[in-house]
Amino acid sequence: MGRVYNFSAGPAVLPEEVLKETAAEMLDYRGTGMSVMEMSHRSRPFEEIIDEAEKDIRELMEIPNNYKVLFLQGGGHLQFSMIPMNLMKNRVADYIVTGQWAKRAYEEAKIYGKANKIASSEDKNFCYIPDCTDLSISASADYVYICENNTIYGTKYKSLPDTKGKILVADISSCFMSEPVDITKYGLLYGGVQKNLGPAGMVIVIIREDLITEDVLPYTPTMMKYKIHADNKSLYNTPNCVCIYMCGKVFKWLKKNGGLVAMKATNEKKAKIIYDFLDSNTLFKGTVVKKDRSLLNVPFITGSSELDEKFIKESKAAGFESLRGHRSVGGMRASIYNAMPIDGVIKLVEFMKKFEKENK
Ligand SMILES: *Cc1c(COP(=O)(O)O)cnc(C)c1O
Repeated sequence: MGRVYNFSAGPAVLPEEVLKETAAEMLDYRGTGMSVMEMSHRSRPFEEIIDEAEKDIRELMEIPNNYKVLFLQGGGHLQFSMIPMNLMKNRVADYIVTGQWAKRAYEEAKIYGKANKIASSEDKNFCYIPDCTDLSISASADYVYICENNTIYGTKYKSLPDTKGKILVADISSCFMSEPVDITKYGLLYGGVQKNLGPAGMVIVIIREDLITEDVLPYTPTMMKYKIHADNKSLYNTPNCVCIYMCGKVFKWLKKNGGLVAMKATNEKKAKIIYDFLDSNTLFKGTVVKKDRSLLNVPFITGSSELDEKFIKESKAAGFESLRGHRSVGGMRASIYNAMPIDGVIKLVEFMKKFEKENK
């Protein structure tokens, strides 16, 4: 069997070219006689790998010089704690709860101080983004927290909240490098790389330098201080070397394919194909309010759980993998990240059309 069309929400599809190149370098990375997995993280070849990866992400995302890029472990989840431990100087922070990941971050922040839920879309099972143009931001809030693209529910902020001068902190795990962003609007943005950029096991934190201080909450473990990682260029301890190496290859792939402007155009094209179909057919329908739809995670249902099950089973047999929706939404979800070829989306819609005809 060849490669399937993989619609998994994460870990997710990677560019085939990147996988082939990695395979070719497995036994002997560029004349070193070893794989990157076997190499000291203090060695010259690895130094080049991490330096190059940082240079490329800076170029792709146009990251200003007063921001640090950190390659850390512990996934998205450890950031739910690291953020309050490092940034909650007044022990107050405002959270906008638009899904499970924002909710987890909010619950975690409560351990460290006063976390305020200033807006939420839980009343409608997170199918929309609340109006964030005039929020009641807490006077002493150290930051305002959002999850920018909601992987599970398929919503995305189309404009950033007005934080009224407070620092914006964003989880961008599932929209990482899917379109250009203005880094200067954020104090900190971070994402697990297993959605759009690489294998699981690493999170990239982009943080404004003035937010990196020794002034952290008491009992903050050394490993959870941004400063220790910034001072040591992400090499305080052994990093996830192989993940940095593979993300580096994905960055090269992104550069070769036109960077984030081109990614946005392709992602819009792919999303349009599937949303146009969802809006015009008689069997499937999208679960998200139109104006808040994500370009990357597309949840949909038939309205009948039996038909949903049948669709998931038959689509899998036809080579479309991991279309089952998250257990909290049900139905289906197509995650169509950067590395999902447009062909995969066209073929999926063809398959959905056929299924519609057969199951009217
Ligand atoms: C997947 C995901 C997470 C969780 O990431 P882990 O690396 O599993 O901790 C957090 N936030 C968002 C938006 C995600 O998509």
